[in-house]
Order: sequence, then C-alpha cells, then structure tokens
Amino acid sequence: MRTLEQYTIEFAGLKNGNHHFDFELDQHFLENFPLDETVDIAMKVFVELEKSDALLNFNCSINGTTTQPCDSCGELCDISFDNEDQLLVKFSSNAEEVGSDNMVILDLNEHKIDLSQFLYELVVLSSPLKRAHEEGKCDESTISRLSSEERGTMDPRWAKLKDLEI
Ligand SMILES: [Zn+2]
Repeated sequence: MRTLEQYTIEFAGLKNGNHHFDFELDQHFLENFPLDETVDIAMKVFVELEKSDALLNFNCSINGTTTQPCDSCGELCDISFDNEDQLLVKFSSNAEEVGSDNMVILDLNEHKIDLSQFLYELVVLSSPLKRAHEEGKCDESTISRLSSEERGTMDPRWAKLKDLEI
C-alpha cells in the first residue's frame, strides 16, 4: 500500500477528546494516487478525530475540484464536489482480526495512521459519474467538429484512422 507522510496522523500523544486536522489534496497527492484521466486536484480535507482509549473515530470531509477532460467536448474542465465519510480505528492484539470498509484494526502498539488511502477512496467514490462542463460552457469548436463527424463529413485524417481500425 502506498503511503504519504503528510497525511499521517500521530495519535499516540493526543489526549482523549476531539482534535482537528486540515490537509490538502494536490498535485503531489495525485502523482502518488492517480485518478482516471484526472490531471489536477485541489481539494481541502477537514478531519475531526474523536479519541478514546478503545477507539479512534475519524470524520473526514472533502471539498474541492478535480480537473479532467470534459465528457462532451474533451477540453479540460473542473468538477466541484464534496462528501464526508467516517473511519473507525479499533485496537487489538489479535493479529488475525480484520477490519471492514470503514473499520481499521491496528495493533495496540501502533501510534500513527496514514489516511491517504482512505482519502483516495473517498475522492473516487465521491467523484460524479458525468464529468463535463456546465451546460453551454463547452468548447464550441470541438463540439462542432464532433457533430460534423457524426454527420459524415469527417476530417480526412480521422477518416484514414478509421480505415485502420478494421
Ligand atoms: Zn465541455
């Protein structure tokens, strides 16, 4: 599993109670956790940790944009979205105990947790299926080229490529 030090929370020295952490998901995050077709990400992460002796309860909110080719015109577009999710950390000395989607089991001696994989999954799950410009904001020249191709007046270079696909 990939890890990123900057998304690691050292919880061992924290008192029981609530703690807040802020992160940003940026180009560096994207290089380590590539997202399908996404060329940039600018996302704020707000983490609220509720700590007790037996449990760590992380409430993570994300809010920001990803940049990728538009589904309609192919030019880059920013898509904004937000979401939140909860990650529970339980401590156990039983190495065979396994976690679930939102539950991680850590050894009693563990003192930190890396949230980057969890944040990555949260972004993937939150990202809208349709990633396109708002209505009317698409690149008109690309749209007209695409629609003229549909009408059969295809650019000769594209037509040639099409012949090769047989
Ligand atoms: Zn577009």
